[in-house]
Amino acid sequence: MDEKVTKGGISVETEHLFPIIKKWLYSEKEIFLREIVSNACDAVTKLKRLTSLGQVHDIDEDYKITVTADKDAGTLTVSDNGIGMTEEEVQRYICNIALSGALEFIEKYEGDDGADNGIIGHFGLGFYSAFMVSDKVEVITKSFTDAPAVKWVGNESGQYEITSNYEKEGRGTDIIMYLNDDENDFLNRSTLTEILNKYCSFMPVEIFLSCSDDKEDMEVKAINDTNPLWQKLSSDCTEEEYTEFYNKVFSDYRDPLFHIHINADYPLNFKGILYFPRLNQNYDNIEGQVKLYYNQVFVSDNIKEVLPEYLLMLKGVIDCPELPLNVSRSYMQNSQYIKRMATHISKKVADKINSLYNTERESYEEMWKDMKIFCEFACLRDQKFYDKVKGSLLMELTDGGHVTIDEYLEEAKEKHEKVIYYANDKVSSAWYIKMYNDMGIKVALLDRGIDTQIMPLLEQDKDIRFKRVDSELDESLKGDGEVVEDEELSNIFKSFGEGITVKFESLKDSSVPAVINISEESRRFADMMRMYSMDGKMPPIPNESTLVLNPSNAVIKKLLDNKDEAIAKQVYTLALLSQRPLSDTEMNEFLKSSYSLLEKLL
Ligand code: ADP
Repeated sequence: MDEKVTKGGISVETEHLFPIIKKWLYSEKEIFLREIVSNACDAVTKLKRLTSLGQVHDIDEDYKITVTADKDAGTLTVSDNGIGMTEEEVQRYICNIALSGALEFIEKYEGDDGADNGIIGHFGLGFYSAFMVSDKVEVITKSFTDAPAVKWVGNESGQYEITSNYEKEGRGTDIIMYLNDDENDFLNRSTLTEILNKYCSFMPVEIFLSCSDDKEDMEVKAINDTNPLWQKLSSDCTEEEYTEFYNKVFSDYRDPLFHIHINADYPLNFKGILYFPRLNQNYDNIEGQVKLYYNQVFVSDNIKEVLPEYLLMLKGVIDCPELPLNVSRSYMQNSQYIKRMATHISKKVADKINSLYNTERESYEEMWKDMKIFCEFACLRDQKFYDKVKGSLLMELTDGGHVTIDEYLEEAKEKHEKVIYYANDKVSSAWYIKMYNDMGIKVALLDRGIDTQIMPLLEQDKDIRFKRVDSELDESLKGDGEVVEDEELSNIFKSFGEGITVKFESLKDSSVPAVINISEESRRFADMMRMYSMDGKMPPIPNESTLVLNPSNAVIKKLLDNKDEAIAKQVYTLALLSQRPLSDTEMNEFLKSSYSLLEKLL
């Protein structure tokens, strides 16, 4: 066949385009490789489609893409054995960039900082991104039809040359990029591996990398996984596969708590796997990561917008062919589609939590430690989420067990109704906890900051009351000793602090001389004030505190008799200890008086 040469200029407008491609995409130059390789992938996918439609027969090759770096020639070549192009197609697709879109873009954004708007792809400039790093690009292509092969050569000023009836052996396309001198880094295996791993790890056609300085006996293995886990049915995936995928994709050696495999079809169309990571208890790095893919082509690394803000700790992959290949931040933030994705994800997370609760109670309780804060935070932020998961919210008990509110109420219903007794701290409330437990009443442990916010939500929704163990004495704790009143002793105790009410009440436990009760309301109010006060200092005990003196106790019996002020003070301070930490002055006084009491005992 005779070669025939056609010359032309891509177009006047295109000449304007080239410097802009170079300038504005500078910050993400490496993306050219994604564009060229994904075009190769598309070419193979198209051919596969034609084959499966029965329009093409006798294709017996293994489909593949090869990226070849040749240091001596200074070229990077991407070859595929896909659909290829006829001369007419080269004219149509390669000589004509989707100019209208591109020109519109230039008019709109020239002078702007367009770098993160990602014009490539969006405007069909994918192929031309090769010119970000090359001064010359050759396309040698042979269509799957009988048409002869063609060679197209273009330079960075937009001039091209087409050679018809070119010699090329097999079907498919070679894109040969003659790299600019200062872009030779793109010929190093390590650089190429890094870029291909980032963008092409899950592309659907096998990709091989071959570098001019590779050793001959190097193992030749595709760099990508053409059938990533998210594309499979969850029933076909094992726990081990999910974990392994997570470990690999997020380089996190800790296994995640659980995963959610999403396969959303109409009206949404995306697939993905989200993981709830194992967080360290300091929550110093709770930020998750969602990698976004477009038909298995990596698009972006941290797409926060597809998650509701309260689920930001999730890590995972989402593949969504409905979104443009290059999505800008502002697109993400304003897209209704993305918002619907976030809502869908939130629903799936709630479903998963409920299903873990229903079917794997034991491991669910184990996970609760890590999940609690996030689950409750989500409930506070999103009423719908709360409504879905409220039956699966657990409370930790001071004995280490976990129950739902309904389970707690059901178990306690004979002793008290609609009340949940709790402690913030197992140590300072130890005496109360023991006393309640002895009476067969369980105590919830609410020791996290978020508990003060979740309590009012639950109280309102379920018409219940949370009462801290020291807020009042449950009837079951009271004994039936004689009724005592002693004004003189009351006054001595009253002098120890402001606004103390003193009450005599026999307790079943005779070992304890006195306890201080502060009503739930005024304590919560004080806690809230403390939370908002800048220095976080302890406020004085609020006025509604009641000092309960137990006349069944030997010390109080003696005090009723001898009114010893030093002993009374000691009793008061001991009661105070289970309410709150002592101040420094209080502590010094307490130690001093304890020492002198010891001396007296000797
Ligand atoms: P887009 O891929 O967004 O359509 P490109 O500029 O990347 O825009 O490519 C333009 C067109 O050139 C493609 O749509 C395709 O028809 C053709 N093309 C590019 N690369 C190849 C290839 N490797 N094999 C076959 N056709 C290709």
